[in-house]
Amino acid sequence: MTLELHGLAKSYGSFVAVEGADLMVGRGTFLTLLGPSGSGKTTILSMIAGFTEPTSGQIFLDGKDITSEPPEKRQFGMVFQGYALFPHMSVAENVAFPLRVRGMSKAEREEKVRGALDLVQLSRFADRLPKQLSGGQQQRVALARALVFEPALLLLDEPLSALDKKLRAELQEELRALHRRIGRTFINVTHDQEEAMSLSDSVAILNHGRIIQLGAPEALYEQPRTRFVADFLGKSNFLPGTVRELGQGTLGVQVGALRIRQEPGAAKVSLGAPVLLSLRPEKIRVLGDADTADNVLEARVTSWSYLGAGFSIIAETAVGPLRLAMPAWHAPFHPAEGAAIRLGWSAEAATIVEDDDAGA
Ligand code: ATP
Repeated sequence: MTLELHGLAKSYGSFVAVEGADLMVGRGTFLTLLGPSGSGKTTILSMIAGFTEPTSGQIFLDGKDITSEPPEKRQFGMVFQGYALFPHMSVAENVAFPLRVRGMSKAEREEKVRGALDLVQLSRFADRLPKQLSGGQQQRVALARALVFEPALLLLDEPLSALDKKLRAELQEELRALHRRIGRTFINVTHDQEEAMSLSDSVAILNHGRIIQLGAPEALYEQPRTRFVADFLGKSNFLPGTVRELGQGTLGVQVGALRIRQEPGAAKVSLGAPVLLSLRPEKIRVLGDADTADNVLEARVTSWSYLGAGFSIIAETAVGPLRLAMPAWHAPFHPAEGAAIRLGWSAEAATIVEDDDAGA
């Protein structure tokens, strides 16, 4: 099953909710649409499901144009934020519902329901009513109900957002394991970057109705194309500067009085051009006395906090305040306010990003 979106767009009057989305989702992929509230994630999902009619563009399923097919003909599984289980039906009856609608025989239904409940590890709760289950269990029933008729594509709209943090983390792992086990295509919507990164093979980052970047979680985190992407996928330091030749063919970026050694990476840069550097906190090391790095900067700790796995530190430098993350196992010193430290990072550590943040 391959799903393709070609220039899919949706406007409400003059308001553009989704602007020309192009996407290809290969068989068995776990794709997440990630973006802030109002960025158009649900609208895209709803157009794929067939509930929202696109203003323009097309949807193809295995090469067949399904843009104007009604939702029931598309036969996609769906799980939404509110579990929407039937309160008066048992767990087994809830899961059997899509099969009853499809006119499946009782014996066949029972077998499929058993299989689906096994899949989400709820077989022993088959006779309970939804209100006798925890939120996480109810969400798993909703998953079983969406998977029981073996849809080619499962659409998930913030299915875990109503759960508390610990339960959400547990269900994320289950969802990922389930996806691996059944090898179906999943399209998930969330505004939670950790969830998107930990679950997905591929993530599409949306802002203001546009897909800004599509890629594997690591690629997006390590090589964000724009400031918005870098910022949305975790913390970063942004340093505005100008491209310079630093001698012996090395390129660099001048930030204030500081010349930074910088590999251009994927970015196309020309001498003298203004650029923005994104430098992740964990790419900055606190140097010991004997340590060197491509880039070295004197700094003074202005604040710090202990986070268990390490320390988060804000330090004042010649290029302004920098945020850094110092792993506890590799801490050459214990942070103290006012302490003088030396920071270092390699020429590949930062990425040159497009500055798209104005008004975002
Ligand atoms: P959230 O995370 O808050 O659910 P989202 O990224 O899923 O947000 P959408 O629900 O797709 O965002 O909405 C995108 C934009 O389209 C929003 O600004 C929303 O107000 C607008 N919108 C959605 N549905 C309608 C509608 N029926 N009429 C007018 N505007 C709409």
